[in-house]
Amino acid sequence: MVNGAVPRFWREIPQRYNLIGNQCGVCKKIFFPPRESCPECRRKSIGKMKDIKLSGKGKLVTYSIIHAAPKNFEGQIPYPIGIIELDEGPRLTAQIVDCKIDDIKIGMKLESTFRKIQQDGYIGAIYYGYKFKPLEDKK
Ligand SMILES: [Zn+2]
Repeated sequence: MVNGAVPRFWREIPQRYNLIGNQCGVCKKIFFPPRESCPECRRKSIGKMKDIKLSGKGKLVTYSIIHAAPKNFEGQIPYPIGIIELDEGPRLTAQIVDCKIDDIKIGMKLESTFRKIQQDGYIGAIYYGYKFKPLEDKK
């Protein structure tokens, strides 16, 4: 273990409540989930990765509708899983909630919302406990 490093397990807990990414201090690229080092800068970035809280807002890049689901999801299928590009740049996969499947459009604005974790470890979205819902217009 690198001197002073916190075990990964403990570092990941706050991500269940906040979208915490990190940024390479060398090239300024932002990652989510946080990385130990920047894949571009490699050794130069070690010790220079800085945690940052992400806005949780982004746009839908693509999505698919899940029709087959593990046991814990019965009653919820079909449900949409999207790839969301956050305003800060990183992309992540998450379930889309509070939106009819017919209303989902590529490019739509979404924001993160924290929901009960259905099942650990099935896909990243559920493991981290966040889902995405349509961004409400602040009128
Ligand atoms: Zn970098």
